[in-house]
Order: sequence, then C-alpha cells, then structure tokens
Amino acid sequence: MTKLFSNYKRSTIEFVKAQGNELIDSQGKHYLDFSTGIGVTNLGFHPQVKAALENQVQEIWHTPNLYQNSLQEEVAQKLIGDYDYLAFFCNSGAEANEAAIKIARKASGKQGIITFQNSFHGRTFGSMSATGQDKIKTGFGDGVPHFSYAKFNDLMSVKSLVDEQTAAVMLEMVQGESGILPADKTFVQDLAAFCQEKGIYLIVDEVQTGMGRTGKLFSFEHYGIIPDIVTLAKGLANGVPVGAMLAKTNLGSAFSYGSHGSTFGGNKLAMAASSAVLDILTSPGFLDQTWENGNYLQDQLKKVLANNPKIIQIRGLGYMIGIQTTENLADLVQAARDKGLIVLTAGTDVIRLLPPLTLTKDEIDKGVAILADIFTEQG
Ligand SMILES: *Cc1c(COP(=O)(O)O)cnc(C)c1O
Repeated sequence: MTKLFSNYKRSTIEFVKAQGNELIDSQGKHYLDFSTGIGVTNLGFHPQVKAALENQVQEIWHTPNLYQNSLQEEVAQKLIGDYDYLAFFCNSGAEANEAAIKIARKASGKQGIITFQNSFHGRTFGSMSATGQDKIKTGFGDGVPHFSYAKFNDLMSVKSLVDEQTAAVMLEMVQGESGILPADKTFVQDLAAFCQEKGIYLIVDEVQTGMGRTGKLFSFEHYGIIPDIVTLAKGLANGVPVGAMLAKTNLGSAFSYGSHGSTFGGNKLAMAASSAVLDILTSPGFLDQTWENGNYLQDQLKKVLANNPKIIQIRGLGYMIGIQTTENLADLVQAARDKGLIVLTAGTDVIRLLPPLTLTKDEIDKGVAILADIFTEQG
C-alpha cells in the first residue's frame, strides 16, 4: 500500500531514464516527450545542463543567502539583460507569486490584487487566493483577502474592480492550466496603459509561459509591454526546483534587508542549471528557431486534424499548444502513451502540448502522426 497522499492521479508508468527528448520507463519502453514534466524540462535532458549540474556538485551544491552567490548574480544578469529589473530567487512558481504579491503590497502600501477568472497562480494560500478557479480552493476555508477576479480579455471588467486600494493586476499572457487561452494583444496593451495611468502594478505570471516556451524569453515580449513585476519557475532550471521574481528597480526598497527571504532560494545547484539554460536560450537563433518550430507544430496539427469532427480548436503561442476536443481526455492521453507519446491536459477539454524546445523536425512529425492517429481512432 502506498504511504503517499492520493492528491495526484498517477499513471502506473514510471520513467527511470531519459535521453534527449525521450523518456524511458521501467519496462524499457521509449516515449517521445511532448510534456516536459509540466513545462519544466524545456530543453529536454540536455547534455549542457547535465554537465553544469555535475560540475557544480563537484564544487559545492548549497550555500546560504547570508553569503555572496556569484551564480545568482550571473543568472540574474542573464535573465534581466537590458531590462530594468532586480531579481529574487525562490524554489517554485507559487513562491515566486507570493514574492510578487508581497512586493506589490509593500511598495504600493495597498492591498488589493485583481487577477482573472480561470487563472492559475499556485497552491500556497496567497497564490491559491490569486487563482480564479473555485475547484482549486474548495475545502480550505477563507483565502487571503483583497483578491478579486476580472473576466480575462475584458478591460471593462478590470476597471469595474479597481478602487483606491488596488495595488496590482496579475495575469498570465496565456492561461495555461485552464486550457491554453492566449490574451488578446490589444487587451494586454490597453491594460498595461491603464495600469500605468492609475499607478497600479502590472504583474505577469510567466511561470509556464516564460523561459522560451512561447518562442521569446518572456511571453510579454510578444505583446510589446514591460510588466512591473514578473514571476518565473517551471523551465528556469530545466528540472531543478527554482523560482524567480523580477521587479522594476524602483520597487527595490520594498524588499530591503530582512523583508523577505528563502532558505533554499537560488541554491548553487539550481543556479548552475539555470545559468546553462540561459546560455542555451540566448544563444544566437535559438529562440527564433523555437518560434518557427512551435508554429510548424501548430500548423501541422491544424493540417492533419482539419475537418476532424472531434477537434473544436487548435490554439496556442509558440510551443504552448492546446487541442480543444469533444473526446474524453484520459482516453486520449492513454492512447498517446500506448503509441509512445506523452501529452498533458488542461481545463476540461484540452490536450496540452508543452514539448521540449529542442525537438527536431523528425520528432515533431512523429508526434503529429501519433496525435493524428489517436484523434482518428478514438471513439
Ligand atoms: C505551474 C504554475 C504555477 C505554480 O508553480 P509551482 O511551481 O507548482 O508552485 C503558477 N503559475 C502558473 C502560471 C503555473 O503554470
């Protein structure tokens, strides 16, 4: 009998090894990975990340944040580039969002945070309270107060929730967990302008969309805006637990000495992996290729699944793709596994693809063929 809580619905498959973009289970079966964990091992099991981890283990794998950490400096530098941000490192997406909520409140002296219906921001009390889905919160009693939930892609709805106590608006550029729902460009631009005019901080949760997932380092770069606060996690260290909160330099005094912290945050091991990840993502042409390949995958899917009555819509941004379907999701996921492809679901009716950014054309074609098969055979 398991001694683990049953809070996850686990498949009986156990992956015990990985090679590039393939997972190998305990029976020796190989699977092409179109899930990257859940948008985590964005570069597959990349030799450069592996080498960085191995090298760091040889030196030292943890030091406390009471001492200099040149790796944190290095990762912050690579992450921030020419933006006017400061970085705080933690261990997960939820923690990054906690840090964002805390700095927005402290810097503004206000408490209200507007998020969106069907958003997902994490499972801690603050990030759960930020999340606009009842099913995530049921049974846990009162959440953190002063959160309200606007309609996604609806600026009037945001405006109707704003008052003198509004500190920030927080959103995903593509709502991931609830079904791969991209924000409209005009909505995002109008929202950013509105927030700036009203002195409300704009927080963009890039936990799933960031780190090259959409073909840009940050998905907000598709929208021509610069948020006040940005959160990252999933792909940031390609599988080593890490999160980050970036905020404009002028918010720095809100996180002065002693105001916030994390025991493990920005650990040497995580930073070594993250530094390697950033070297790969920022290498010449990598993100352009990612954008191109993500679009190729989306186009191929649209081509092979055109006129398929089981498909409602195929949508996404870069390598963050949703296939909305009338079919049973669990059956589709199982059918894909049987044929050697690992996919995710999102919301109630979407097969979610978060493939490695390092897929070859052959691997894309192979995955598309399997997806075409399962949607043709099922039912
Ligand atoms: C996964 C996710 C989170 C939560 O990240 P954890 O590391 O599980 O805490 C927060 N926001 C978004 C958009 C996510 O996709």
